[in-house]
Amino acid sequence: TPIPDYLTEILDSVRDIKDGEVADYIPALKDADPNLLGIAMTTAEGHTYSAGDVEAEFSIQSMSKPFAYAATLTDRGIDFVETKIDVEPSGDAFNDLSIEEDTKRPKNAMINAGAILAHQMLIGEDATMQERVDRVTDFFSALAGRKLTMDKEVFQSEMDHSHRNLAFAHMLTSYGMMEGKAHEAVAGYTAQCSILVNVQDIAMMSATLATGGVHPVTGERVIKRSVVRHVLSVMASSGMYDSAGEWFTDVGIPAKSGVAGGILGAIPGQLGVGVFSPLLDSHGNSVRGVEVFKRMSSDMSMHMMEVD
Ligand code: GLN
Repeated sequence: TPIPDYLTEILDSVRDIKDGEVADYIPALKDADPNLLGIAMTTAEGHTYSAGDVEAEFSIQSMSKPFAYAATLTDRGIDFVETKIDVEPSGDAFNDLSIEEDTKRPKNAMINAGAILAHQMLIGEDATMQERVDRVTDFFSALAGRKLTMDKEVFQSEMDHSHRNLAFAHMLTSYGMMEGKAHEAVAGYTAQCSILVNVQDIAMMSATLATGGVHPVTGERVIKRSVVRHVLSVMASSGMYDSAGEWFTDVGIPAKSGVAGGILGAIPGQLGVGVFSPLLDSHGNSVRGVEVFKRMSSDMSMHMMEVD
């Protein structure tokens, strides 16, 4: 079957799944249409195939973490960043503190504490709000190949309910792990999470991870090879939070989910994949999204531990 038909068929096979809940921790996400369902994949050669609700926009949320982390590693160096943020799977939920008792480092950059610190290290503690928004929006836009924007309503809604992230930021500050003002770090991180994408953007952004850092369409090197290897490794062990082990055994590719219902995956050397559907399981991962990846992984032999 031609690829678009195959993608439509996969979506149809999960369309009847109505399990899960939309994210309800902020009003702006609670109103999402639970029926939305879309998929896109971009090959290492830059061809994009998609099906379903391909134009629907949603906030990138935690799928921003691997890209912001990549930018931080690029600017500050892998060795230095590792003195501040560890690379160990936490096995915890995204909103668990997960700070190491002895070194006070967040366990990894895929959980909130690590991502807030990565954002602050990327931007520099003195940056203005505009500089923070511009830095992440420009980088994500370069990866997506179109100008992305921030959803102000999601941002504001999230800021009104960011007590927990503020607490993490204050902890990191009190441990001497983070410089600057804690609330500015959280505001910048929240803006980063509020950038709007569709599944095609996500597939394109992930494809640059799949190629080892070369943009599949422009052919430009956007991220260093060593940085991509590092980011994909952390995604593989920690990208799906407290279901990372189950995800890797079932699907077997580095991935990252976001609470708006997106999941991105990167198959090294081959593909970037983006799936979107708002109903979430108890780990905060899209229920249909997980099913779509499971099916694709088995149909297309994507599992990286598959010996053939
Ligand atoms: N902005 C969300 C938060 O920090 C992102 C969480 C997520 O997507 N898992 O709580």
